[in-house]
Amino acid sequence: MMKDPLVQELLYEVINEEEEGSINIIECLIEGKVTDEEIAEYTELRLNIVRRVLYKLYDAGLASYKRSKDPETQWYTYTWKFETERVEEMIKRKHDEIVTNLKSILEYEENNMFFVCKTSDCRCTFDEASENGFICPKCDGEMEFVDNAPIIEQIKEELHLYDGHEVDFGAENS
Ligand SMILES: [Zn+2]
Repeated sequence: MMKDPLVQELLYEVINEEEEGSINIIECLIEGKVTDEEIAEYTELRLNIVRRVLYKLYDAGLASYKRSKDPETQWYTYTWKFETERVEEMIKRKHDEIVTNLKSILEYEENNMFFVCKTSDCRCTFDEASENGFICPKCDGEMEFVDNAPIIEQIKEELHLYDGHEVDFGAENS
């Protein structure tokens, strides 16, 4: 799961730490190291960084903790758990947003003809171009028809990528 670029992107967004190796904190959690001390020791990150990252994950709903009191020392121990299912949910939601957005762009591209300016990169729809007598509203250059088939193809390819993308959430348990 951690090797999935989309998972990594999401986690980096949540963690948002300059500290190198902070993503390893999650790997530790997944591998069953449950206290901040254990994680700090294993990752060789400072304890306050580990704690900060853990609380960021908690804040995003990606981690949870249980508090228990040591009967001898009276100190509290926090045992942490990574919420894999929530990651799955968040990624699915993000995918859905991207796909919805791509589909609306695709529809717009498919339902319109486009004209571009010869001298700059202005681009408008047929309606906009004809309103201006096929003269560029920005630079007075001549507008000419451009086939948007390559753009449509590109959007479709991108959509296809999301269609086929499955995050492997089971790997760590095997
Ligand atoms: Zn122009």
